[in-house]
Amino acid sequence: MQSAASLTKVAVVGAGMVGATTAYSIISKGLVQELGLIDANPDRAMGEAMDLKHCLAFTDPVDIRAGGYELCKDAQIVIVTAGAAQKEGETRLDLCAKNSRIMRSIVREVMAHNPYPILLIVSNPVDVLTRAALEESGLPPERVIGSGTVLDTARFRFLIANHCRVDVRNVHGYVIGEHGDSEVFVWSRLNIGGVAFDQYCRDFCARAACGGVREEIEQDVRNSAYQIIQMKGATYYAVSLAVARIVKSILRNQRSVLTVSTQMRGQFGLQDVCLSLPCLVGSAGVEAIIDSPLGESEEAALLRSARTLKEAFDAIEP
Ligand code: NAD
Repeated sequence: MQSAASLTKVAVVGAGMVGATTAYSIISKGLVQELGLIDANPDRAMGEAMDLKHCLAFTDPVDIRAGGYELCKDAQIVIVTAGAAQKEGETRLDLCAKNSRIMRSIVREVMAHNPYPILLIVSNPVDVLTRAALEESGLPPERVIGSGTVLDTARFRFLIANHCRVDVRNVHGYVIGEHGDSEVFVWSRLNIGGVAFDQYCRDFCARAACGGVREEIEQDVRNSAYQIIQMKGATYYAVSLAVARIVKSILRNQRSVLTVSTQMRGQFGLQDVCLSLPCLVGSAGVEAIIDSPLGESEEAALLRSARTLKEAFDAIEP
């Protein structure tokens, strides 16, 4: 028998669309042995837990429970997806004040039952709420992680792959900064199979012009959440796989490079702000921030994005 301490366990706070699909992704990938679901609406958590339990004939065994914050005890990772969702026409920063209050109260409850979890924040505005969770928890910065631009990076890579007609897994590129409108596309480091994007387009893309594509792709990535929300009310499939990917890298100490949101510790001269840069994610959380040089305009855009996030945080946390 394994001891309770060695079981892989996550708790998900918020069993709405994102929380439930995240739980589903984690279970279907066989990442954990125990999974707790917590929601302000207990019936919602209970209903999702029941539905998820019916997956177990097709997955590895998982002890799935719905209940209160006691389910956070012994969890290596507590994922927070609770909060008000983005409404049509509402920016992520509009959600700031409402969700910051919710986040702080959730973090207090989690810490009362588990003094040393890794907190994985998904609720929006994710960068601002990651900083609020960091402050409220008193945990070291490497243990408070936002899902950041992992999703935006996936959307970016998908669109590049689509444009170049190549497997998305061979597209290496990053979106950094805010998970939101001021995010920054690192075109200077984008490569396909080790070949710089422009050269790949010249040599291997059977298209006459790739020139105007950058702006188009940036717009598509920035607008995709708004478009999906307009059409079906919420986004959840891709974010759930993005969160499962982060969870896997932590629980299996994979040290994957992921654009999670983390507190800056002097990178590009930034302090006291959480945003995304490529990070090494392993069992200790964010084990390193990869702040290799950016193009001049990219660095300037990153600093602007950081300023936007600082202003948003200061506006709600005077
Ligand atoms: P939803 O409305 O479907 O679910 C939110 C859930 O949180 C509800 O079940 C609600 O009862 C619960 N909740 C509210 N207050 C709570 C509290 N104090 N304690 C416990 N539970 C509480 O929303 P959703 O579509 O699941 O989105 C959830 C969050 O995820 C939103 O903030 C959304 O903007 C964000 N999101 C983030 C990303 C990302 O990439 N980071 C992507 C998509 C959505």
